[in-house]
Amino acid sequence: TAAEIEAGRRAHELDRAHVFHSWQAQGPFAPMTVLKAEGSLVWDGEGNRLIDLSSQLVNTNIGHQHPKVVAAIQEQAGKLCTIAPQHVNDARSEAAWLVAELAPGDLNRVFFTNGGADAVEHAIRMARLHTGRRKVFSAYRSYHGGTHLAVNLTGDPRRLPNDSGDSGVVHFLPAYPYRSYFGSTTEAEETERALRHLEDMILLEGPQNVAALILESIPGTAGIYVPPAGYMEGVRDITRRHGIVFIADEVMAGFGRSGKWFAIDHWNVVPDLVTFAKGVNSGYVPLGGVAISDAIFETFRERAYPGGLTYSGHPLACAAAVATIGAMREEGIVENAARLGAEVIGPRLRELAAKHPSVGEVRGAGCFWAVELVKNRDTREPLAPYGGSSPEMNQVVAALKAGGVLPFANFNRIHVVPALNIPDELLLEALEALDRALDVADGFVED
Ligand code: PLP
Repeated sequence: TAAEIEAGRRAHELDRAHVFHSWQAQGPFAPMTVLKAEGSLVWDGEGNRLIDLSSQLVNTNIGHQHPKVVAAIQEQAGKLCTIAPQHVNDARSEAAWLVAELAPGDLNRVFFTNGGADAVEHAIRMARLHTGRRKVFSAYRSYHGGTHLAVNLTGDPRRLPNDSGDSGVVHFLPAYPYRSYFGSTTEAEETERALRHLEDMILLEGPQNVAALILESIPGTAGIYVPPAGYMEGVRDITRRHGIVFIADEVMAGFGRSGKWFAIDHWNVVPDLVTFAKGVNSGYVPLGGVAISDAIFETFRERAYPGGLTYSGHPLACAAAVATIGAMREEGIVENAARLGAEVIGPRLRELAAKHPSVGEVRGAGCFWAVELVKNRDTREPLAPYGGSSPEMNQVVAALKAGGVLPFANFNRIHVVPALNIPDELLLEALEALDRALDVADGFVED
């Protein structure tokens, strides 16, 4: 309506005057206005309908404005909006129980945070106190958050302006079959070589100094490159042998995104700590946390944990988590994510890869897929350089938006990361738009 468009214009004007945005050069930044979203649809400031293929920052796993979750937040707001973290609260207790029940193995305790980055910070703190060691291993081509330690753990170029040099982080090369750092030509070779590299690095750094190894179960923003068979089991084995706490970062991959409750469940691996956020309540109210093994919990049974947050286990956020997990179970949303990956997204993306010479590789699981765009399939030269954008990629993204899709793009990749309950017909419509946008990408292919 005209009133909505007017409200959007005022919001945009005030935003440009007063809001400081994440990760951006503030001047040239041209944000899109969104005042309305429902399910897998969002409407921009001019009233255009877009299919949300991004789940925002890959967090609205149950789509926008799920009625059961909205109602639970409203009900909790009417009952008790907030309470200090030292008290028992029913919403918090129920949420902790549900997360512990879903988490693998003996991860039976939950420390709640405000989001993913602080979950990562606390997981490392727990590991350092538990082991009495300081160094932390983390992969290149990873993302772990924007706070001081989390951004130093991060293995993408956003770390570099924040590099503190004293964070105790050692980066290692991940298993990434499509762009192997080890010259591997098969997945088995990649697994073997990447694991040998990791263990060599740990031995060279002194295992007795290494507190933790943090790894995304399936790296997300860095490219949804699913670890090859045997890699996660190998990482678990190496960390166990050297007494290193293994932290699986499930902030993006968790809560059904990959077609299982946690992505680590694709392998027979139980980490010592799991970090989560985003999908735990689809981000309706900020929430993250660390699921903690019995052994690490024991370290803090008699010894005070030196850390806390005013909003740890916030009732509104926890009530949203309880309702989200409930809705996901009642509506078979995780099973649906697995079905969409196996029967719709995977097959359709493989068809697009066969048809479009600009597609280097498609890969993923559940509702968690990457389309890697290249100028040349043989050299695999990316359509935008690692760490940057390019006019070519910008045109592909613009074509997707013009086709009515809100995409998640990173460097030379388009990620297909819809809500896990996106209706099939909307998903197919979005994949049609992707097909047309890939025609644009094909125009940049060089021999
Ligand atoms: N870890 C992973 C794997 C993530 O994908 C993210 C966010 O994208 C984070 C941590 C940081 O979470 P937050 O932005 O909630 O601090």
